[in-house]
Amino acid sequence: MIRTRFAPSPTGYLHVGGARTALFNYLFARKNGGKFILRIEDTDIERSTKESEEQLIKALKWLGLDWDEGPQVGGEVGPYRQSERTEIYKQKTKELIESGKAYEAYAYSEELDKIKEELLAAGKPPHYSYEEISKYDTPERRKEFEEKGLKPVVFFKMPRKDYSIKDLIKGDVTFKKGAIGDFVLMRSNGLPTYNYAVVIDDMLMQISHVIRGDDHLSNTLRQVAIYEAFEMPLPQFAHVSMILGTDGKRLSKRHGATSVEEFKYRGYLPESVVNYLALLGWSHPEGKEIVELSEMIEKFDLDRVNSSPAVFDEVKMKWMNANYIRKTNVEKLYELSIPFITESKLLTEEQCKDNKKWLLEAFELIKTSVEELQKVPEELSILIKDFEIDETNQEFLEYLNAENVKQSIKIALEKFINDEEWTEKTVLENLKIAMKEAKPAKKPFYMALRKSITNEFHGPDLVKSIHLIGRARVIERLERVVN
Ligand code: GLU
Repeated sequence: MIRTRFAPSPTGYLHVGGARTALFNYLFARKNGGKFILRIEDTDIERSTKESEEQLIKALKWLGLDWDEGPQVGGEVGPYRQSERTEIYKQKTKELIESGKAYEAYAYSEELDKIKEELLAAGKPPHYSYEEISKYDTPERRKEFEEKGLKPVVFFKMPRKDYSIKDLIKGDVTFKKGAIGDFVLMRSNGLPTYNYAVVIDDMLMQISHVIRGDDHLSNTLRQVAIYEAFEMPLPQFAHVSMILGTDGKRLSKRHGATSVEEFKYRGYLPESVVNYLALLGWSHPEGKEIVELSEMIEKFDLDRVNSSPAVFDEVKMKWMNANYIRKTNVEKLYELSIPFITESKLLTEEQCKDNKKWLLEAFELIKTSVEELQKVPEELSILIKDFEIDETNQEFLEYLNAENVKQSIKIALEKFINDEEWTEKTVLENLKIAMKEAKPAKKPFYMALRKSITNEFHGPDLVKSIHLIGRARVIERLERVVN
């Protein structure tokens, strides 16, 4: 049975790297009919917060990455929050101590530091060893610790041998004998270290594939050694390459929005975020870029995950989002945009509801030019807001004063006033008549017309815009430029 897990530490927002890890684990499980597990790694009590956990869960749900076992849904091998698994770690540590694979350290932290310093001074690698640390394990020390209520740190006896790990993305990774020394499994506060908890949990949760960022590759050595100490089969490891910004530097806040929450806030559609995240390392066998989740599940394969770094490019991500916005029906766009419209104070929720029909038409018009839903109010405001015409704008004056332009605008205006109907069709017909009668050059005519009516030189389909802006406003705006 394929079992994957996403194991975030709840210490902040869900960033691009973490979200991609979650997605790859999700895709791999779904593709293979396996299970996707969510585990909260909150043993770092100083940095972990409940709010972060809630945020992470919300962000994962927003992306549509549902888990089969984990917080909120439960499962047979829970609890799925490390802070609730302390007894399990204790029990497992006992087993390791009994089998001689781990030991308690009765040295104080200054003494442990001293061991390292002395090794360094002697020109040796600063690696802890049982030989050094066990010197402190005397009956007196044990008594002292007990009297003071101190818990000994528990160290893992790291075998001094070569390790070779088969990584599904990186290939064979070798760690030479003596690369590291003994290391801490349990802290004096009774909590496990990351490397220890992760192995106990992966083991007991029967994780078959550990897919995660390659910043954890070096940790794998410690983890593999712990698996072996328990005589447990190793999971398959797949370390995904890091994500760089377009400047080639490791992705960070400097590169703009990097958290899922920020993308949501800017009006990215979850489908497009998921699509973009998938392409940060994975590629479709036919090179397709717009790939919906169902197809991703069908086509996902770790063989197609690149071992070199992926580049996060927000321009491309915007392009992707624009594609998804274009594919979304206007009814849904309307629903999704209401928070952005009300937040910008362009319209109230009530006004959105009252003008729904008009807004649906407006979405039909603007949806081809919106890249992020946060830009919807700006696009709509062109159709809604009044403006003062800038009489000093040279470009505008040139168009307006070009031969026959004013004359043709006058004719169009006349038609707009007198025509019984106001439809896209009549708007177009009347513009055609005006051009036919006054014969202006096409470009200055349309530029002057657009600027007069929308206050912009460029924008979506002009006839549709004129129709949506409405007869009364259009007449008023045209009258002020030709009279
Ligand atoms: N809690 C670790 C992290 O957030 C998980 C690493 C792993 O997947 O093993 O990076």
